[in-house]
Amino acid sequence: MAGPFVSEGDLRRALALVIAYHDAGRPMTSVQLGEAMNLSAEGGRLRSRHLADRGLVEIRHEKGANRIYPTSGARILDLPRVEDATAPAKRQRPCMRCHQTITSDGPHHRHCNRCRESLAKLSGSGCFAF
Ligand SMILES: [Zn+2]
Repeated sequence: MAGPFVSEGDLRRALALVIAYHDAGRPMTSVQLGEAMNLSAEGGRLRSRHLADRGLVEIRHEKGANRIYPTSGARILDLPRVEDATAPAKRQRPCMRCHQTITSDGPHHRHCNRCRESLAKLSGSGCFAF
């Protein structure tokens, strides 16, 4: 079973993210990998499994999450650069509007995607002028 197709460039980008987060002292979970690539959690899991199959990463179960560690084999590859690995750690916080837990990427990020969309629509409709 080969499973859903993942392109080579996609996997290299995933591996570059895994290494960058690991080197920044925050080994990624597969869910975080999915988020960092704007994919679903399943998208992140799929890519981490592909990388593990190739011996490029090792997935360790730690503190209730599967964290992805690059292996020494991953270090010798020429990978794309990632810019966002040294950004402040993302944290979980409730959406200010509906209180659903979101992974915030900074003080400016206080609403879940659904609320952001509906707030954008409201402001775009001209109901609120402030
Ligand atoms: Zn919300």
